[in-house]
Amino acid sequence: MTKLILATRNIHKARELQTLLDDLNVDVLTLNEISTELMLREDGTTFEANAFQKARTVYHHTKLLALADDSGLEVFYLNGRPGVFSARYAGEEATDEMNNQKLLTEMRAVAPRRRRAQFRSILALVGDRVEEMTEGICTGMLGEKSHGTNGFGYDPIFIPTGFSKTYAELTAEEKNLISHRARSLAKMKEVLKVKLHFLTK
Ligand code: IMP
Repeated sequence: MTKLILATRNIHKARELQTLLDDLNVDVLTLNEISTELMLREDGTTFEANAFQKARTVYHHTKLLALADDSGLEVFYLNGRPGVFSARYAGEEATDEMNNQKLLTEMRAVAPRRRRAQFRSILALVGDRVEEMTEGICTGMLGEKSHGTNGFGYDPIFIPTGFSKTYAELTAEEKNLISHRARSLAKMKEVLKVKLHFLTK
């Protein structure tokens, strides 16, 4: 069976991706099973650059087909911030709680109609003569307070379009039906099906 390695150290992301890849005929490995010291840099200026940087690093190190996600929250009122800085919006050592508080404070006086936001996920797949990319978007709006305890990151303050609750108030199964990462991965699974067909011949 083809081995696919998830180029992430984020256990929440790895879990979401692993669940969503369950029905493919691939052996999904996480980075922690392969290497504890490999550093994944994310110093690009776009999600695309960061996703390819992570997937290429892991592929070159392991020679296994590598899949990386780079994702984040884009708030229209803030011209797309936090964007690529999502994980470290309140500083290099910031916790999810600190990032959420910084964003809520920045948006405190902003009216509901100007609180539109979107999550974006870029997935990059890198292997032997393979370089592919897909994008998934989930639109919504920024809440005014944190609600819910599921998920991670900005989940407690993001209300997806068509819902009256946050990502963090959805179950993992509900989030996986609509999330940016699920949408990006649905496209990547189609790519993988074609690639795996050739890779396994
Ligand atoms: P990355 O590891 O550089 O892609 O950082 C992604 C960051 O974006 C995470 O640390 C979160 O802050 C945020 N993020 C990405 N996807 C999600 C999600 O599904 N829910 C909540 N926050 C997310």
